[in-house]
Amino acid sequence: MNWTAQSINHQASRARNGADGHSAETLVSIHDEARRERLLDMELRLRPYRAACFGILFLALAFGGSDVGWWWVAPLALGFAGFVVADSFMRNSPHPAVWIAGAWAALPILLASAVLVTGKATSPVLVWFALPAVTLGFRFEPRGMVFGTVFIVAMFLASAVVPDPSAALEHRQTLIAAFALIVSTVILSGALVESDRAHRRRSTLDPLTGLFNRNALEQRLGELEGQPCNPEDGLSHALLLCDLDHFKRVNDRLGHAAGDAVLQEVAYTMRAALRAGDSIYRVGGEEILVILPGAGREDAIEISERLRTEVRERRPVGVQVTVSIGVAVSEPDLVDTEDLISRADAALYAAKAGGRNAVFVDS
Ligand code: GH3
Ligand code: MG
Ligand code: MG
Repeated sequence: MNWTAQSINHQASRARNGADGHSAETLVSIHDEARRERLLDMELRLRPYRAACFGILFLALAFGGSDVGWWWVAPLALGFAGFVVADSFMRNSPHPAVWIAGAWAALPILLASAVLVTGKATSPVLVWFALPAVTLGFRFEPRGMVFGTVFIVAMFLASAVVPDPSAALEHRQTLIAAFALIVSTVILSGALVESDRAHRRRSTLDPLTGLFNRNALEQRLGELEGQPCNPEDGLSHALLLCDLDHFKRVNDRLGHAAGDAVLQEVAYTMRAALRAGDSIYRVGGEEILVILPGAGREDAIEISERLRTEVRERRPVGVQVTVSIGVAVSEPDLVDTEDLISRADAALYAAKAGGRNAVFVDS
C-alpha cells in the first residue's frame, strides 16, 4: 500500500461528498431509514394515547350526541380499525408511511361526514378537525404535513361551507374560530416535532459514518424482543455482527484520518447492500451490527456473503479491507435479543479464529 496521506484525504472527501454518486445515493437511503425508524417509533409511542383519545371521543358522543342516534359508532370504529390494520402491516412494509397515511386520511373524511349530518356550519364536532391536525407532524415529513393540512382544510370546507354557503356566512364566527384552531394546531405541533427531529438526529446517528448508533439499536432491540418467531413458517429474524479485519494495521500504516475514511466508505458500502427494512448500526469502533427482520438462515447467509464480498471488492480509499461476520438466526417461539447477540458474537469469534474474511453461522 503506497498511498500518500494527500491522496487518501482526497479520496476520503470524495467519499463524503458523494462525488462518485454511490455515496450520495447511500446517504439518501440512510436518511430514508432514519425517517422510517422515526415513523415506526412514533406510531408505537402514539398507540396508547391514540386509544385513549378514541375512548374519549366515544364517551363524548355517547353522552353528548344522544340526539343524533348511534350511527356514529360505525365511523368511529372504522377510524380506529384503520390504525389497527396499519399497525399490523407497517413494520414489515418497505413503505410504512403509506399505511399510516391511509389510516390517517380516513379521519378527516369520517369527520367531514360527521359534520355533514350534525349541522354543517353549526356542527359541534367541527373543532375535532384539530385532532388529525395535531398528529400530522409526529407522523409525516414537512411535505406530508403540508399535504395533510390542505386535505383537512378541504374536508372542513367541503362539509361546513360548500353544502350551505349562506348558513356558513351567517355562522362565520364559529367557522373562522375553528379554522384558526386547526391551522394553529398544525403550526405549534410542527414546532414541537422539529425539536424532536433535531434531538433524534443527535441521539441516534453516529456522526462519523451516519449509521445508527447504540441508542437506536436499543430501541430497535426493544421492539424485536419477545416477538413471535417460527422459522418453519418463514417467520424469523437474523442478526449479523461484523468486525473489520486487522483494522489496527490500517490505522498504524496510514494514520487515523485514513482509518476514519475507510470506516465511512465501508459503512456506505454495507448500507447500500442491504434491503429496505434492514437496519445497520455502528456498535463499536469498527464493529457493525445488522438486523435483518423476517430473514431466515439462508437469507442471512446470502446477505452476509454479499456484504463480505462488497466490502472486499470496494477497496475503500484504495485500501484492501475485509470483514468477518457472525450470523445468528432467532429460534422458535419468541425472539430473545440477548441470546441472538451472544450467538452472533460467538460466530464472529469463530470467523476470526477461522482466518477472517469469512461468514460463520451460529449452529
Ligand atoms: P481483528 O481482525 O482481530 O478484529 O483485528 P483488529 O485490528 O481490527 O482488532 P480490534 O478489533 O481489536 O481493533 C480495532 C481497532 O479499530 C482499534 C482502533 O485502532 C481502530 N478504531 C476503532 N475506532 C476507530 C475510529 O473511529 N477511527 C479509526 N480510524 N480507527 C478506529
Ligand atoms: Mg473490533
Ligand atoms: Mg477488527
